[in-house]
This record gives sequence, structure tokens and C-alpha cells, in this order.
Amino acid sequence: MSSKCFLCPRNCGVNRGGGELGFCRCGEDPVVARAAPHFGEEPCISGDMGSGTVFFSGCNMHCVFCQNRKISLMGHGREITVSRLAEIFSELEQTGVHNLNLVTPTHFTDKIVEALKIAMPQIPVVWNSSAYESVETLKTLEGFIQIYMPDLKYTSAAASLRYSDAKDYPSVAKAAILEMYRQRGGCETDSEGLLKSGVLIRHLVLPERLDDAFDVIDWVAESFPKNAVLFSLMSQFVPFADKVKFPELSRSISREEFDRIQSYLSLSRIESGYIQELCSATDELIPNFDLTGV
Ligand code: SF4
Repeated sequence: MSSKCFLCPRNCGVNRGGGELGFCRCGEDPVVARAAPHFGEEPCISGDMGSGTVFFSGCNMHCVFCQNRKISLMGHGREITVSRLAEIFSELEQTGVHNLNLVTPTHFTDKIVEALKIAMPQIPVVWNSSAYESVETLKTLEGFIQIYMPDLKYTSAAASLRYSDAKDYPSVAKAAILEMYRQRGGCETDSEGLLKSGVLIRHLVLPERLDDAFDVIDWVAESFPKNAVLFSLMSQFVPFADKVKFPELSRSISREEFDRIQSYLSLSRIESGYIQELCSATDELIPNFDLTGV
């Protein structure tokens, strides 16, 4: 990294190695809260043996409803060296997991590339991000990442400003996802249905944000060849936001809301992907950020 950080679209320009903090509130070295097999991802990622997740602390989004706030906002985790990060990659691979899954990695992109140069796994590497990423930074990942698993959180600038302080999220995220697709092309799976290469786009449905969900579905359907990317419709929103400031986010999504979005999806040309069960809306899915494997 240059002495000034411009890794992500926040373009803070701070000297993270010199103790200055940008929006992500992270220094230069990676901070990790957990590194362990995880079974809560989509079946093509978790499989039978699990996905080798590395949960990075800090975030360049700070969504008000974040379910991983203990690490994303409060910074819980351990600062480690690049060589230790490379060891963690190797240790996870040796457990027999199907892939190495880098969760919320954007603000440590440069250090992750250094670690992958030391210990490039034989299994696919998954980039599990918010998609609030610059195309220029994503280009540095070409050849290191086999599976991109971005969110597409909002298509409304008003929502992305209100909930993530990122008015430009819709245009930035769409450009980022198109770059991911440029790098990997259409999805490839193995004989067991595990994803080996490609792009899986996730959308977490928020209460009262049906129009965002409809627009996300339209954009995915229009932007890629039929069945080229996987689409995952997620229902697991848990109301963690401040109920006074964000009363509209003080409940889980309703059956009626989710049914309407599922119906819309079924009428689109999207055929490949996943729909999460509505009963998944529970904090039991939140991993234990206890420094396991770090
Ligand atoms: S990675 Fe962090 S410091 Fe760098 S531009 Fe993004 S938010 Fe700012």
C-alpha cells in the first residue's frame, strides 16, 4: 500500500501504517476474528466439508443493521502479520474444506494478495464482500480469486446513504460485480455441485425495501447471460439497528414480503441460485468470533 490508502471507494487518503484511521478504522496489518470451517454458506460453497472462512475485522461499509457488528464496527479480533495470514490459509486447507472463504476482505486487499503469493491454495479462493469496491483494486485480485461472492445490497442511493453512509453504493457495486464477472466468466461446478469458479450474487432482503429487491433481480437478470451467475435471495435479516433512529428496521421481514419477492424472482429469467428459508432469520447463524484458528 502507498502511504495513503485509496484501496476502496471511500478514498480516505490516510496513512494507515502511520496510525491514521480511515472509515474502516483499521491499521495496515490484517485483523482476523475467526478462521475455521463454516457450514452456513450456500450448499455449493459449504458442501459436506465446510467452507474455510477467514473473518476479517473492520469494514468499509458500517451498515446499521450489520449482524457481525462485534467485528465490523467494534473491531474485535487479533492483528496478525502477512506470514501468519498465509499460515492460516494453509492450515484451513489442510482441514479438508472445499474452499478458502475471505469474509469482508476489501480493506485488507493488498495484504491478502501478499499472503496468497506466499500460500496460494489448491482449493478455490472465495472473495466474500459487500461489493463496495473499486474496479482498480479488484483488478489486483485477478488470478488469485476463483469465486466472487458479492452482496448487492441496495439499488437506491437514499437507502445506501441512510443505512451504510455510501450514497454511491449502487453504481459502485454494480461496476465492481461486472468486473468480477469479467475476471471469472460463467459459473463452473464440479461433479458434486461445488462451485469451482464464477460469481454468486447475494441480496439480503430488508423490511419495507421490496423495490430494492425487485430492482436487484431486474439488474442481475439483465446484466448477465442466462444462468451465467448464481443468485442467492437471503431472508436472514435480524433487527440489530437502532430502533429509534431506524424504526423501519425494527422487525424481521414478513412472510408476505418474502413471498412477493419470491414470486417476482420466479417470473424473472434468473433460474440458477438459492432462496433462503424464511426461518433462517435468527442470530443463531452468527459465528462465534472467539479467535478460533487465528
Ligand atoms: S480501505 Fe479503509 S482507509 Fe482505505 S480507503 Fe477504504 S475505508 Fe478508507
